[in-house]
Amino acid sequence: MNCPCCSGKDYMDCCKPYHSSEKSAPTAEALMRSRFSAFAIPNGGYLMETTLPAKRKFHNTQDLQDWGEINQWTKLEIIRTPSSDQVEFKAFYTDDDGKPQLHHEHSLFKKVNDRWFYVSGKFLD
Ligand SMILES: [Zn+2]
Repeated sequence: MNCPCCSGKDYMDCCKPYHSSEKSAPTAEALMRSRFSAFAIPNGGYLMETTLPAKRKFHNTQDLQDWGEINQWTKLEIIRTPSSDQVEFKAFYTDDDGKPQLHHEHSLFKKVNDRWFYVSGKFLD
């Protein structure tokens, strides 16, 4: 199966080792890609685990899982990585009404004890 993050690689050789905790994502961009894939799979637990512990109270594992499930995740585009801890991306998906949607976000990540975490994101037009 092609990895949902649109890397062109097989899921087994791309985001799966991160989802199954065999490896941790080496860069903020790799973590971002694996989080997009985690919406597509979906894997709400992974989305929560890769959120900075101090920010987890703003999220809910079941909501993340449900959000992954109700939408069809069609494409991820990394727009730019202005610094090692920032990623701007566009996530394309089809909602449960069959309408194509675009989520454009500038995200902030943080490395703690050699692991990358998602901190927060600013939604863009
Ligand atoms: Zn991937």
